[in-house]
Amino acid sequence: MQTRIERSLTRTIAWSGVGVTFGGAGIWLFWWGATGEGFRFLACLPATALLIAAVSCVLAARSLTGHAACPHCGASLLADSTEVLRAIHCPRCLGYARVVRGRLEELPDDWVDAEARFTAKVPEDVIDWPGCAMCGEPPTRSRVHDHLVPDTGLNLAIAAVALPTIGVMRVGGGTLHQLSVPYCDAHDDCVELDWESGGLVIRFRSLAVFRAFCAANGDEAAESSGACG
Ligand SMILES: [Zn+2]
Ligand SMILES: [Zn+2]
Repeated sequence: MQTRIERSLTRTIAWSGVGVTFGGAGIWLFWWGATGEGFRFLACLPATALLIAAVSCVLAARSLTGHAACPHCGASLLADSTEVLRAIHCPRCLGYARVVRGRLEELPDDWVDAEARFTAKVPEDVIDWPGCAMCGEPPTRSRVHDHLVPDTGLNLAIAAVALPTIGVMRVGGGTLHQLSVPYCDAHDDCVELDWESGGLVIRFRSLAVFRAFCAANGDEAAESSGACG
C-alpha cells in the first residue's frame, strides 16, 4: 500500500518566517558589529550563530514539513518527498515504510538497508538465531560483537539485576556486553549492538532476518520493535 506525501503549508510558512527573522537579525547585528568601534566586533559572533540558525530554518522548511499517513496504520508521519530510500519507522505501529517518488510505501519483505536499523531486544536467556545475521543462510562461523555501557548510577542498578547468557564483564568505567553472532562465509560484521531502555538490543540490516529473529525469540525480542509480522 502507498500513501501520498503532502507538504504542510502552515509549517512551511512558520519555518520560513522564523528563518527570515533570524536572518534579518543576524545581518543587522553583523553590520552593527563590523562597523563599530572597540569591542563591538564581538557582536559578529552571535550574529554568525543567528545566520546559521536562519539557514537551518530554511532547510527545515524544506525537509520537516512533508507528512504522509503510515501505510500500515494510518498514523501521520514526517516524510520528506525529496528523500529516496530511507527506512522510516512508525512510532505508533512500529512498522517500516520507505519514500518512493513522493509516496510512502510499505518496505518490501526482502529489504536490506544500508544501515543496521531494524532493532530487536536481545533475549536475556537463550537466543535462537534464524541463520546468518545478514542473509539467514546456514551459518558457518561466528563473530563476537561487543558493546560497552559506560557506568552511571542507573546502569549499575540494571547490571545488578540483568543476567543474560551473553557475556557480560565489568571493565574500567563500564560494563562490556559480548554477543556471539552467527554468519555465513559471505558475511561478517553486519549487525550493531546498542543499549536501549535498560537492555541490550541488536540492529539488523535485513528486514527478513530481523523478522525471523523476532519470530524465533518471541515477544521478548519484538517488544523493542513490534515490527515483526
Ligand atoms: Zn504505523
Ligand atoms: Zn550470510
